[in-house]
Amino acid sequence: MQTIKAAVCRAFGEPLVIEDIQIAPPKSDEVEVTLDAVAICHSDISFAGGAWGGHLPAVYGHEAAGIITAVGDSAGEFQVGDPVVVTLIRACGSCPSCAGGKPTVCETPYDKVNGPLRTADGGPLEQAMACGAFAEKVVVSHRQIVKIPQSMPKDVASLLSCGVITGVGAAVNAAGLRPGQDVVVIGAGGVGLNAIQGARIAGARRIVAVDMTEEKLTIAKEFGATHGVLADQKAPWKAAYKALGGRGADAVLITVGAIPAYDQAPRYLGPGGKAVMIGMPHSGDMASYEPVVLAALGQGLIGSKMGDVVIQRDIPWMIDLYDQGRLKLDELISGRWTLSQINEAIEDTKTGSAKRNVIVFDRD
Ligand SMILES: [Zn+2]
Ligand SMILES: [Zn+2]
Repeated sequence: MQTIKAAVCRAFGEPLVIEDIQIAPPKSDEVEVTLDAVAICHSDISFAGGAWGGHLPAVYGHEAAGIITAVGDSAGEFQVGDPVVVTLIRACGSCPSCAGGKPTVCETPYDKVNGPLRTADGGPLEQAMACGAFAEKVVVSHRQIVKIPQSMPKDVASLLSCGVITGVGAAVNAAGLRPGQDVVVIGAGGVGLNAIQGARIAGARRIVAVDMTEEKLTIAKEFGATHGVLADQKAPWKAAYKALGGRGADAVLITVGAIPAYDQAPRYLGPGGKAVMIGMPHSGDMASYEPVVLAALGQGLIGSKMGDVVIQRDIPWMIDLYDQGRLKLDELISGRWTLSQINEAIEDTKTGSAKRNVIVFDRD
């Protein structure tokens, strides 16, 4: 075991505590990655607030990039020194979901409490989301990581681990958008802006962003939205129909956790349209819809986890898009912070004005 610094959740709803923890060396198919950057995602905030349960103490953080510093004896093609992004998609590769091409919903359980992390005094410490990346190092399965170019800045690369693949993947993989289709994206935050980029990359005809403030709608247009609709008006879907020439959308991508967005989403759809649920409401939250309308109009309602991505296929593709100037990543970063500032960075993310806040690690 080695000792590293991490931001630990000791009590739900309380600030994270920077403390020394212990991390085990990588076993068989695992690698140790020394992190350069980890972004803060709303899922980290939901977990730390107790929205989804889980064991405490725990280390959150799952949107990371760094360099491999140790490998197990069956870690595939990975070697010490490789720069990589680290995702939370710990896929076994052989269960029905993995074999069927959907590793994001791998069915093989992973014991996060008895994973590689321990507290300084040797007690249990949950490696939340199979990552535990609010820490100087992670030990993860080699199936969770993807190599990136040496030249790619790690703060920018870290965004590929969650927000970017979730948003772009939802548009391309889950909604299966085809050129010429019309799209509504509810929420123009970290995931929503990427869903907008995904719709643009897929060749959407019109992309309507729906959010609570004009400021967010302006940013949405910088990422490819063709129209903006304020959510805090009566029947906002009517404004969307207007933007779409009087018809509903072929897909609506719900990228927020607020329940009214789920209740309203089918209202934005045209005949045959699909509502894709991407945001993560709190456990126990319920939404309602009118089945007869969905049946009569042949509409669909589907969930998408992590953009239904296959990271080994989709992340290299997105890196090429970034290199070619077709995928915005630098513009997603609104702040850089140190690990000791993590609680301030989380507060800033909670206010809703930030795009992505990134923790950057000092390496000496
Ligand atoms: Zn995330
Ligand atoms: Zn699996």
